[in-house]
Amino acid sequence: MRKPLVLGNWKMHGTREAARSLAAAVRAGLASGSAADVGVCPPFVFLDQVAAVLAGSAVALGAQTVSQFAEGAYTGEISCHMLREFDCQYVLVGHCERRQWFGESPEAVIAKLAAVIAAGMVPVLCVGESLAARQSGDTFAVIASQLEPLLQRADAAACLAASVIAYEPVWAIGTGETATPAQAQAVHAWIRAAVARCNAEVATQMRILYGGSVKPDNAAALFAEVDIDGGLIGGAALKAEDFCAIVAAAAASANRS
Ligand code: PEP
Repeated sequence: MRKPLVLGNWKMHGTREAARSLAAAVRAGLASGSAADVGVCPPFVFLDQVAAVLAGSAVALGAQTVSQFAEGAYTGEISCHMLREFDCQYVLVGHCERRQWFGESPEAVIAKLAAVIAAGMVPVLCVGESLAARQSGDTFAVIASQLEPLLQRADAAACLAASVIAYEPVWAIGTGETATPAQAQAVHAWIRAAVARCNAEVATQMRILYGGSVKPDNAAALFAEVDIDGGLIGGAALKAEDFCAIVAAAAASANRS
């Protein structure tokens, strides 16, 4: 049985005070001993204070990206080692906004994934197709190209075993348009099958999250699908009440067959 996971991606939003109060509200709004794992990914500059607010709680800390390089003259970058100092457990890699606005290639994304694992954290590998790719029937080809540099590695099975994958159709991110549960399930099943061709046991254990305009009113239907193991939440993660309702929906899905 895979334990559901819900991660909040706060993106480039907020102030020091807003981050502190959002973290405190999430902490207060979640039942202890939940059947779902939970984490939040604030902007880098708020990690320290959010870590302090969440200390001793079940809410894990994550980061939105990281450098693939260990150290050196990489102006503006943040290393895995630095994130570890803040007790980050999860790191998003390959979010579509990173791929789209900052030109991150599939190879660079997988280099980041490997660096995150080597540093003892869990990478959340984001994959997903654009609207144009979906409309032209290229959804699986796009996702295959995003997974390819990972699957080609000699240590692919070990890397997959240490990772979470998030399926995030680009056309559903921040648009209010959500993939239907059936659309999402079809892609999740395809991803799990691709992982199974590398290692069947890893595929059974791997958590595959859905992201793209998940809200309290659509979360339960998405999480009821057999291959959807929780969510990566953007806009709704900025309202503690909505985020906690989504976590509750994930926890309620924990016993789905
Ligand atoms: C995201 O940015 O990962 C995301 C899923 O955003 P939203 O929930 O706002 O679509």
